[in-house]
Amino acid sequence: MPTKKTTSRHIGPVIKCQVCGNTKLQPVLSLGHQPIPQEYLTDRLVHEMTYPLNLQFCTKCGLTQVDYIIDPEIVFPKNYPYRTGMTNMLIRNFRQLAETMDEQYHFKPKDLIIDIGSNDGSLLAQFKERGLRVLGIEPTDAAKVANKNKIPTIQAFLDLKTARAVVKKYGKARFVTATNVFAHIINMPELMASIKTVLDKDGVFVSESQYLMDIIEKLEFDTVYHEHLRFYGLKPLQYLFSQYGMSIVDAERITAAGGSIRVYAMKGKHAPSVRVKELMKKEKEAGLYDIKKLREFAADAVGAKHELLRVLIECKQTGGRIVGIGSPCRSNTLLGFAKIDEQLLDYAVERAGSPKIGMFTPGTHIPVLDEKQLFEDQPEFALMLSWHIGHELMDKLRAAGYKGKFIMPLPKPEIF
Ligand SMILES: [Zn+2]
Repeated sequence: MPTKKTTSRHIGPVIKCQVCGNTKLQPVLSLGHQPIPQEYLTDRLVHEMTYPLNLQFCTKCGLTQVDYIIDPEIVFPKNYPYRTGMTNMLIRNFRQLAETMDEQYHFKPKDLIIDIGSNDGSLLAQFKERGLRVLGIEPTDAAKVANKNKIPTIQAFLDLKTARAVVKKYGKARFVTATNVFAHIINMPELMASIKTVLDKDGVFVSESQYLMDIIEKLEFDTVYHEHLRFYGLKPLQYLFSQYGMSIVDAERITAAGGSIRVYAMKGKHAPSVRVKELMKKEKEAGLYDIKKLREFAADAVGAKHELLRVLIECKQTGGRIVGIGSPCRSNTLLGFAKIDEQLLDYAVERAGSPKIGMFTPGTHIPVLDEKQLFEDQPEFALMLSWHIGHELMDKLRAAGYKGKFIMPLPKPEIF
């Protein structure tokens, strides 16, 4: 059921591995049909389009990936509501990234850094503070926020045309960063060619993506939604970079976005660091490239869904009201997969200023209200929909006066 006619060969069912082209892909986990995770509704009665959301695995290069791709103009509309600057955890991560890169590569004042999918410019602000020339590339209206904050940003998807125009105007970049977007962009050949176009000969490309190891260890299946097309481990990433004449020189695990992998890559052939070799060994031990292990993960996800429903129904049967804390994109996978609607969850709250306030969650149509409602109503239970930063949030909400109990939904529902 295509929503609109499109000529792109990248949109629709994924029948070939996105990294190596292998056509023998193995099904791993089925999360049903889900709507666009960021498409919050102004009217709960609206009829939404849904799309298949399943994980599959490539036995050749080891890439775990979704089985259906939606037109990015639909997934990332101009009015895309997410603002990086509203997430403290990410700001801390950006500061740490700037520090680490400065220590390792010794910034020089005229160095240019380009951030792909730069959102409101929060990452680049950290580099600007350290005296670098900065440039953001961002397709959504977050680019306007960045420009207002004096972070020069081009409002566009990164493609070869944009890349060439950037080089002409600004020169080549010593650093190119892509945090939490490297798994989102469909057209890999064009993306890699664009990165190589803007990156200097000895430049460093740094990407941060959610790490399959963390997803499996912590049962973070809710991180699977239509924005994320690929769930990386080092093995498929190495394969990917080598196809484009680049190599991974270093890698590290970081806590951002529920556990991510930060990868440093350069043009040409370079030996991987000790950290890369160690991580590769750990990935193998953890079964990241073993279909049996991946299917165990899928069975655990289904078990977690049943257990969460049992806990929520029990809370409801004792007469409790349940309110969701936060309404991040990823929570819509969990709500949709577990079929948690407004009969179980009265509403969800977001911090003041969030563009989601006054709207309804896609698929499950739960109202999103201002966080102050939580303190007024004092519902008996608060379901941590941002459970990946749940403990930080629980402390804050407690300090701010919330008196009820907290429910952590995953990896196993727990009441605090
Ligand atoms: Zn593959």
